[in-house]
Order: sequence, then C-alpha cells, then structure tokens
Amino acid sequence: MDASRLDTWYLQLTDRCTNACPHCFSSCGPAGAGVVPFAQARKWIHHMAAVAARRIVFTGGEPFLYFPLLRNLVHEARTRGLEPAVWTNGYWITGLEEFRLALRYLADVGLKHLLLSEDAFHGAQPFVAFLDRLPSAAEALGVALRFARISPKDPPAPPDYLFADHHVTEGPVMFRGRAATECVAHQARWKLDDFDACPFLDFKAPRSLFIDFRGRIHICPGIPLADLTVISLKKFFAEFDLERHPVARAIAAGGPRRLAADFGLHDEAGFVDFCHACWELRARLSRVQNLDSPAPERLNPV
Ligand code: SF4
Repeated sequence: MDASRLDTWYLQLTDRCTNACPHCFSSCGPAGAGVVPFAQARKWIHHMAAVAARRIVFTGGEPFLYFPLLRNLVHEARTRGLEPAVWTNGYWITGLEEFRLALRYLADVGLKHLLLSEDAFHGAQPFVAFLDRLPSAAEALGVALRFARISPKDPPAPPDYLFADHHVTEGPVMFRGRAATECVAHQARWKLDDFDACPFLDFKAPRSLFIDFRGRIHICPGIPLADLTVISLKKFFAEFDLERHPVARAIAAGGPRRLAADFGLHDEAGFVDFCHACWELRARLSRVQNLDSPAPERLNPV
C-alpha cells in the first residue's frame, strides 16, 4: 500500500459512548465495553510513525471516557512525531473553566487539534450556551478546535459526490454503520446501477486509515483489511495486495454495483447513496456467510 498520500490515522480507543447517535458509522453506544490495550496502541503508534508520521485522531465511541489512556497515547503520539487530535462529543464540557481544565492536561502532552461534534444528531449538548467561546479558549492552550457538523440529507437529493474523502467532518450524513438502518426512512432511493464507484476512497493510496479498538485496520469503517494483533502495521503496508481482498477489490473496481455482481447479490429496494448500497450489500453478504458482523473480514484474508 502506498503511504505517500496518507494524511490521517484514526485510532478508535473504545466502542463505548455516552450516546447512541443514529448516524454513528461505528455503531457505538453506552453498551460498548471494548477498550484498546495501551501496549497495543503504543506499538501501532510506533509503527505509524515509521510508515507515515502524520495526524492521528483518537476517536471512539467517546475517547474522553478513558481519559488516562487517552492522555498517555496523546503523549506517545507526540513523542513519536505524529500530530495528535481527539474527536469528542463534548459530554465533559460542562463549563468554560471545566473545558480549559480538562483540555490543559492534553495540551500539556502535545495535543494539537480537537474535533468537537456539534449537530442535531447529537441531541442536547452541555456546551451550547458558550459554544462561541470554546475556540479561543482552546487556542490559548495551543489547540485548534474545529466543529464536526453532520447534517441530515435532503430527501430529494440524488446520490452525489459531495465529499473529497470519507473522513468527513461536515456535510450530509453518509449512510453507513448505524445510519444505514436508522437514517434511511423517508429517503429517496436509486437503483444499484447508479452506484458504480466508491467516490470517496483510493484503495491503493488512501488518505486515511481507521484502526478499531480490536486492532483491525480498515480502509473504510466496516472494511477490515488486516488484524494488527496478528500482522504488524509495517508488514501490512509492505505486503498489501488488493487482489487478496475480494470485497475491497470489487468496490475499488466498480463500487457497490461491482460488489453485487461479483458476489451474486441483487438490488431489492434501491439505495439512498453510495455508502448505503455498499454497507447494505456487505451486510447481506455477511448474513449469507453466516458472520456475526457486517464487516466481511473473513472474505479478506490477511
Ligand atoms: S462507498 Fe463503501 S467503501 Fe466507499 S466510502 Fe462508502 S461505505 Fe466506504
């Protein structure tokens, strides 16, 4: 795999969250109980630094739920020359002073960016009354704050190519993960033939990669390519061959339409967008294969 265009690593610390938002692409919530082991995450960070010392976004679930782990990993990333960022829903921002106090602990060990989700999908958030004062308070600590704002998709809008890449922090919701089931009601649908590409990803030279708390590395959340508890990240990069990953290969070659053709799947009710088609077809494939998750990992030998 070519790391030259890679600009962001996502490292999921946990699938536990204070919320269970309907659009969550990793389907996290209060019932989540998985947490990445520190020693594993530290090793991945060391390998990330060797492959491409770029930005690393600690995400979840809600990463602030495991604050000591988060702080140690931010420190580790900064020490290794990565640019640490944290993506949070801000449940802990109960006041401006509380915001400064918590953020200071991360700024002190090298945090550079904070991504704060703030949209209708996240329901009532505790910082709304002083929202406009948060960026300057973060900046005073050397942290750039950016809001992540996902909006509902306008039902009549056709499938589109609005996104430059799949790690969007703003714009219409992409219908994958929980969004593929909870956000599709009342949406207009299009035929499978309309989804003949993945408009968002370069499978040979991706701009971002996602490592889940179990250690699986995904090119898109839900498309695991390798188990990093079995193979090292450096080895994965050195030996990656798209031909050995039939699902990813099909999507790269011709999007959801090609995926359906390669695996004998059929369009039943149409799809809302590219990701909905892709996710739904992979979920069907998993059921056919009798797997316990929509991620067709057993079809992707490592
Ligand atoms: S079309 Fe599929 S592979 Fe591409 S971004 Fe959407 S879910 Fe991911």
